[in-house]
Amino acid sequence: MALERVRIVLVEPSHPGNIGGAARAMKNMCLSRLYLVRPEAFPAPEATARAAGADDILDTAVVCADLATALHGCQRVFATSARPRQLAVPVITPRACGAAVAQASAVGGVAVVFGREDAGLTNAELSLAGQLVQIPTATHFSSLNLAAAVQVLAYEILVAWNAQIVAIAEEAPEPIASHEALEAFYVQMEHTLVELNMLDPQNPRRLMLRMRRLFNRAHLENTEVNLLRGILSAALGRKYRWLEKVRKPDHL
Ligand code: SAH
Repeated sequence: MALERVRIVLVEPSHPGNIGGAARAMKNMCLSRLYLVRPEAFPAPEATARAAGADDILDTAVVCADLATALHGCQRVFATSARPRQLAVPVITPRACGAAVAQASAVGGVAVVFGREDAGLTNAELSLAGQLVQIPTATHFSSLNLAAAVQVLAYEILVAWNAQIVAIAEEAPEPIASHEALEAFYVQMEHTLVELNMLDPQNPRRLMLRMRRLFNRAHLENTEVNLLRGILSAALGRKYRWLEKVRKPDHL
């Protein structure tokens, strides 16, 4: 799945518990690639404890000496910040970020970068990003716990990714049965109903019209028409097998 191309990058996290919390949040949301830039303590028992079973994310975490190394190979970079900065980088919501990440990860590497617990990201680090993401908060209490911020972004990425899957599925539905295929189905149905003595050809009344109305309402797909035709054939097959038995009883 293309979410494998999404990296969560933590820059100089000082509390190993937050690394574990971030790993857990990631695993809950189908993200797996954690990058740590100069973590103060890692691996650490506190990280493992807070990961609560997301040990695989910790085991495969990549520790880097600087942010540029952690971003190597990424086409799109998003940086998160609790404070609006006076930078020329556009600020977007987590929702817009989720959509952009889901879309971009279908074609290349994407990184979402998180800063230090005490000081966030430096302006130099922020400027490596194409976009800044700010989680909306109370005006005078805007700083989330690092792992909680990872959770918000990871959730938005997964929601957008799932919506994208649905959109792709809706774009390419099963082909709707053609007019000719439906007509052939109705001919077979009429024949079958006559054979099963459910339709009197001398007095058909409105049965076939009602059948047409019913199935036209369903916008049948090709596979569904084939399925129904299979059922009709099976019904007739049974009748013929039964008739043969009646005509040639076993004891003769
Ligand atoms: N005191 C720091 C905040 C650090 S919180 C500061 O003022 O920048 C640690 C990290 O969590 C931040 O660097 C950011 O990556 C993320 N974070 C916390 N709150 C956030 C918010 N409201 N919007 C976006 N990211 C946030």
